[in-house]
Amino acid sequence: MKLVPRSGWGARAPRRVTRLPSARGVKVHYLGAPVTSVPKSRCATGCRSKIRAVQRQHMDGNGWSDIAYNLLVCEHGIIWEGRGARVMSAANGEGRNTDHYAVCALLGTCGLVEPTDEILTGLRGAIDYLRQRGAGDEVLGHRDGYATSCPGEPLYAWVRAGAVRPVKRTWTEEAVRDLPLLRIGAGVVKDDHRRWDVKTLVALLWARGFPIPSGTDETVFSVAVAEAVRAFQRTEKLRPDAVVGPKTWTALLRL
Ligand SMILES: [Zn+2]
Ligand SMILES: [Zn+2]
Repeated sequence: MKLVPRSGWGARAPRRVTRLPSARGVKVHYLGAPVTSVPKSRCATGCRSKIRAVQRQHMDGNGWSDIAYNLLVCEHGIIWEGRGARVMSAANGEGRNTDHYAVCALLGTCGLVEPTDEILTGLRGAIDYLRQRGAGDEVLGHRDGYATSCPGEPLYAWVRAGAVRPVKRTWTEEAVRDLPLLRIGAGVVKDDHRRWDVKTLVALLWARGFPIPSGTDETVFSVAVAEAVRAFQRTEKLRPDAVVGPKTWTALLRL
């Protein structure tokens, strides 16, 4: 978990601080405005200036004493200190800030909408950080008990599902994640880019001892290729459906 303190993003001093030693839990927010994605290499400058802009908006636009949230999380999973722990937020709505602290994901209504694994991991880290500093177990969305769409559908679904840390994919899962799903018919059309994936498939089948008859087009997922795939799948105790998905790729690549 990486937390950038206020000094790390050049926060302005708060006009005043209202202490809140403990609360029932944490409410999750999103920025809600259009949010543009920042490359990871530009996090230290790009996300930093976003945090500064939020504080400017809250202090100069809304006239609040400080940035509203206790903690913020950027798309790279970095936690940015807002008001910090054991301080009352201004994010949950009038009269609702004594029960919950507030964490905010830098997600929007357009542009960056879907929470990345890094964001969810960061949010979980932010919630745990506050729990160790006075927050109770409750994790809710801003919309719970307040008329707002915040924190947006994807994030709210995550909150409702228990706000759990995303499961880290194994490297084999990562490796096959972007491989194409191939089935009979792939590569039939001349400009089908999957022709090269079929060729890779045929080469792997050959290497595993399941060659296709010589003279067969190696760039087309034909009946002959399907038969070789089925035979391979049977040997590997996979469902012999002649569909090459993550399980069959994993077996072919011996991952
Ligand atoms: Zn909100
Ligand atoms: Zn970032």
